[in-house]
Amino acid sequence: MMKNLLLLGASGSIGTQTVEVLRHLKDTEYAYTLSGFSVYRSIDFAERLISEFLPEFAAVVDPEAAKELENRLPPDVKTKVLSGREGLFYLCRNAECDLCVNGIVGIAGLEPTAELLSRGIDVALANKETIVSAGEQVMRLAREKHCRILPLDSEHSAIFQCLQGGNKAVRRIILTASGGPFFGMNWENLRTIKKEDALKHPSWKMGPKITVDSATLMNKGLEIIEAVRLFGLSEDRIDVLVHRESIIHSMIEYEDFSTIAQLGVPDMRVPIQYGLTYPNRTESPAKPLDLAALSRLSFYSPDPVTFKALTLARQAVRTGGTAPTVLNAANEVAVEKFLRDEIGFLEIADSVEDVLNRTEIISQPSLEDILLTDRKIREKKML
Ligand code: NAD
Ligand code: MG
Repeated sequence: MMKNLLLLGASGSIGTQTVEVLRHLKDTEYAYTLSGFSVYRSIDFAERLISEFLPEFAAVVDPEAAKELENRLPPDVKTKVLSGREGLFYLCRNAECDLCVNGIVGIAGLEPTAELLSRGIDVALANKETIVSAGEQVMRLAREKHCRILPLDSEHSAIFQCLQGGNKAVRRIILTASGGPFFGMNWENLRTIKKEDALKHPSWKMGPKITVDSATLMNKGLEIIEAVRLFGLSEDRIDVLVHRESIIHSMIEYEDFSTIAQLGVPDMRVPIQYGLTYPNRTESPAKPLDLAALSRLSFYSPDPVTFKALTLARQAVRTGGTAPTVLNAANEVAVEKFLRDEIGFLEIADSVEDVLNRTEIISQPSLEDILLTDRKIREKKML
């Protein structure tokens, strides 16, 4: 029997690369049937996906776009179009699936993840904002329901792969970072950064939000929190190392100082495919690694003073409770404003710091507390 896959955020960078992996795995023992997918409003893409994979459900969050897709589908197509956020929830509650790939961007991915875990379904998670905001709650849910969260973020997939021999005697995790497009710059240089500069990433082609996060290093800050939650290590045992070539995707140092790394060309289809074939492996659509052609790999320490998002994220996870939720929500709002040219580059981290300082933190929050906190930060327009 072929396994069923549910793909959330199908039209994004993670989503489209997941579709490429699905095509690549077709006719192998690891093939999946696409039972359903979601997009926000990319209905041209949705139309193509429906005609290729004939899924049972297609959820379109924007109701107008959902209506338009419904009108476009020929009468003989059986795919049910679901509309709005309710449609997305219906999809998560009802689509037949053995695995869900969550490639939604931002906190919008949290409730879908929780719905799937509640059904006991494994989630291959790219949507890091979920694990940052509500890491303890979703990890608990996964434990209670005996299902897995498989990390798709390249660094966390790397760590997960390095831990396959067991996770005893881990001394520290070394998260690698490309350093983003502004590596080596100081505040003076960063003051005049434009959106177009921040949207040029040196090694990865990704959606706009994570690309800006990579430029501020908030992405690495979020990934420190993600690693704390996924692997249960305290923040002070998670180091960040700038590695410009993005060949080593992260490392584990064991108690005896033996260090295990996962290497490969920077291609998200490798961690995505590993999530789909786990615990097995098969040939991937990526290129093999040619270390002789690269000849050298470089490493530097990050600069957590200029890129203070790193420091803020460490503080937030040490504080715990809703502090990471507040950090994440404030960052999402600030990045949206930066992308609309309403604030400058340095103001992103400044405003996150300001919101963190002004918000009361709830310790031991429930999932409801987290959703409410997130909504309050957005509604208060604190930035
Ligand atoms: P993207 O912007 O390219 O795609 C986002 C997807 O989410 C789209 O399909 C969009 O339709 C959907 N979406 C947007 N807003 C939504 C909402 N409110 N409700 C429901 N769906 C919505 O983003 P991406 O680069 O693919 O990143 C997706 C997630 O994966 C992010 O959390 C990101 O941090 C993480 N991630 C991405 C990469 C990468 O290489 N792109 C690597 C690691 C982690
Ligand atoms: Mg990453």
